[in-house]
Amino acid sequence: MVKETKLYDLLGVSPDASESELKKAYRQKALRAHPDKGGDPEIFKDLTQAYEVLSDPQKRGIYDRFGEAGLSESGGAGGVDAQDLFSQLFGGGGGPFGGGGFFGGGGRPSGPRKGKDLVHRIHVSLEELYKGKTSKLSLNKHIICPKCNGKGGKEGAVKTCPGCRGQGIKIVIRQLGPMMQQIQQQCPDCDGTGEIINPKDRCKQCNGKKTISEKKVLEVHIDKGMKGGETINFAGESDQAPDMIPGDVVIVIEEKKHDRFTRKGNDLVIEIEIDLLTALGGGQFAIPHLDERALMVTIVPGEVIKDGAVKVIHGQGMPSRRHHDFGDLYVRMKVKFPESIDPAVIPLLEKALPARKATEKFPKNIHLEEVVLAEPDARQQRAANDEMEVDEDEDGAGPRVQCQNQ
Ligand SMILES: [Zn+2]
Ligand SMILES: [Zn+2]
Repeated sequence: MVKETKLYDLLGVSPDASESELKKAYRQKALRAHPDKGGDPEIFKDLTQAYEVLSDPQKRGIYDRFGEAGLSESGGAGGVDAQDLFSQLFGGGGGPFGGGGFFGGGGRPSGPRKGKDLVHRIHVSLEELYKGKTSKLSLNKHIICPKCNGKGGKEGAVKTCPGCRGQGIKIVIRQLGPMMQQIQQQCPDCDGTGEIINPKDRCKQCNGKKTISEKKVLEVHIDKGMKGGETINFAGESDQAPDMIPGDVVIVIEEKKHDRFTRKGNDLVIEIEIDLLTALGGGQFAIPHLDERALMVTIVPGEVIKDGAVKVIHGQGMPSRRHHDFGDLYVRMKVKFPESIDPAVIPLLEKALPARKATEKFPKNIHLEEVVLAEPDARQQRAANDEMEVDEDEDGAGPRVQCQNQ
């Protein structure tokens, strides 16, 4: 069950849409809404933002579980209802500890209420998720005042506020034209606490507030192989208050984008550019890994590496969470062609490479017209790319035009 469907609705797909369905839906809608084609820039922006979230498995996971509130950086704990988040993470009411202690099977909480959880997101690099890491997180939290044990003052100093009879709120009746309106107001006598303490009997340490602020350092152990969206729970480490079970501190792992590797589950994908000579004649290249190693790869002379070919290096992906066995590393080969070549060496190429494809023969009634291949400008190039990509998606299987020869 996803929490919200807004972003899916924008793209017109169901929440279980595959990556390619999302991509296709986005392309079609975004092309129509593109400002260059007279579309509404706002709609285009919304579509793009929706796709940006849903195309990233990590962000999509967070969105599915916590909705848009889970995505807003600044929102943090404030944006997400931590209690909802908690029960969604661990399913149902009870939570992972004590099996149903404070929440009776989805009903209202009974017994002492539980305080709000504090949700904190930490950004972790792929290197750190590969090697594992312990980081210290310091947070300020309220603890029960140790001097007065959370009473706020001397024994008997705390009295029920007579102004609100301990409710902390007052109902005020106000005349609004012909109408009488009831308004709930925080009690001004006790500032909504329901209690008053004689100033001279107030606890000096907490000034009658019953709690004090304390800095607490948590050691967050990020295990090898953890993924974005996973959580680490510190039970009962959130704010303390009298007559309340403190909530938990929930750490949400957020995986930073890596500049070279892309993670797909426990596998990694990297794009490597090699020059044409290496692609045709063999050679070596290195892949610096996520730890203190570089993988040396040899291309055997005689084996031709095609542009776009995907190879795999077994066991060089990410470690798995539980057993720390490794996924695979996929290498997408990009062959860099030279910008130009000395015409004097072309006979050598003709000797080395398969012969040119013969020019097509036409019947006599076809008029042959000589034309020039020119470079498109940037805008023309973009437009041409858009058209080609749409074609590609519509039939779902690569470019429609394929080499007929051979
Ligand atoms: Zn105190
Ligand atoms: Zn009061």
